Amino acid sequence: MSVRETKPSSAEWKVNWPVLVDRAPFAIAAGLLLLALLVVTPHAYAQRTALQPGWNKFSPQEDINLGKQAATDAQRHLPLCNAPRVDAYLRQLGTRLVQKLPTGGVQYPFEFHCVNDKAINAFALPGGYVFINRGAIEASDNESQLAGVMAHELSHVALRHGTNQATKAMLAETGLGIFGAVFGDSTGGALLTTLGSFTAGGVLLRYSRTAESQADVMGTQVLYDAGYDPRAMAQFFEKLEGESKGKNPPEFFSDHPSPERRVERVDEEVEKLGGAQPNARRDSAEFEAIKREVLALPVVKKLVPGAAAAAPAPPSRNFVTYQAHAFTLKYPDNWKKYPDTEGSGVSFAPEGGVLDDGSGHGALGYGLIVSVAKAQGDSNDSNALDNATRQVIQELQKANPSMKVARQGERLRLNGRLGLSTYLSNVSPAGGQEMDWVVTVLRPEGLVYFVCVAPQSAYDNYDKAFSAILDSVRFTK
Ligand SMILES: [Zn+2]
Repeated sequence: MSVRETKPSSAEWKVNWPVLVDRAPFAIAAGLLLLALLVVTPHAYAQRTALQPGWNKFSPQEDINLGKQAATDAQRHLPLCNAPRVDAYLRQLGTRLVQKLPTGGVQYPFEFHCVNDKAINAFALPGGYVFINRGAIEASDNESQLAGVMAHELSHVALRHGTNQATKAMLAETGLGIFGAVFGDSTGGALLTTLGSFTAGGVLLRYSRTAESQADVMGTQVLYDAGYDPRAMAQFFEKLEGESKGKNPPEFFSDHPSPERRVERVDEEVEKLGGAQPNARRDSAEFEAIKREVLALPVVKKLVPGAAAAAPAPPSRNFVTYQAHAFTLKYPDNWKKYPDTEGSGVSFAPEGGVLDDGSGHGALGYGLIVSVAKAQGDSNDSNALDNATRQVIQELQKANPSMKVARQGERLRLNGRLGLSTYLSNVSPAGGQEMDWVVTVLRPEGLVYFVCVAPQSAYDNYDKAFSAILDSVRFTK
């Protein structure tokens, strides 16, 4: 199940003289062009939108460390194209863009990988690890459109959106942050160790619309500075949106939500830059050759979620303690702790317990989620507990449309406090049905909820461990 929270570089002009310029008029043409550039350049730099990375708890070096770990994991989990010419071409194109990417002096170790996935998508991990689906190459009409997608991804890296998002998630909604107040371990270090895995890395790739708009604007500037038609990125987005009318939108938009007036905002920036350069690069013979090569690659069949995934090892009988500010609990020592994607809770899952939900995001198939929702009321007020629980279940149902209440709330005691036990059924990311045992308790911080998740067919093997975990819960105040 998944949980969603309620809430220039220097003006160094390299002109690739077009072959159509004859020897004789060369000098004149060159002179005229240079003059044109000199006129255009100051205008372009004076008017362009200035962009800076937002507030960030992490250092650029941490971006690199975090991204590297996640990239290693991504390479293990994703089907790569394994096409050296394609990778070399992406590296060459990427490097051309990186030379114009304003990174504030940080030297990121940029890498470019082709993923053998027909879905039109691309993503960049903090620190500069860029993954481009074959689908994005195949959907590009020319080199500048592909450069547009890559410039957009590189802008997320330069603007450090991944760790900025993680910083915001850790702060949550209130001043101190629910996460910090309840879990008390929201340090960069802890996140660094737990987020090192790609499946748990959803938080690094879930951008806000503001971040998307910034990546569009900077991407447009990078395209322009690298000598491409700066309109290419917006043209690509427009094309994707147009083609998907009435169908499922391409995956790109689930990872990169469309900001308001996306194309208009990019057009504005193009105008600020003074329009496309007269000799702007649009396509290349290399691009066309690479696209043909990509189109001919064998198609890797996507795993039906869970189909080939082995069931995790049974929960260990040895338990380890997890200490948060507001409570402690014990969980099987062969499970790992993950912060959830919105950073408002923690999950505990065995190896293989976090599965792909079918769209590339991690979903918990086996394990326990602990989170907190805003709620008010005395901890002994059963009506307040019922109402707050109903709201949380509705939120869970929004994030999990197949979720149904299987057994209505029953009272129980959790560490002596009044609690409510509800059973839900849902579609398991491991295939078949899953059972979710939800236990809720009203606390000063809000409604603390524990969700025990396992496929229905395997639930009996987990029941005991779930009960033992809940029995071990101790509220600290
Ligand atoms: Zn994006």
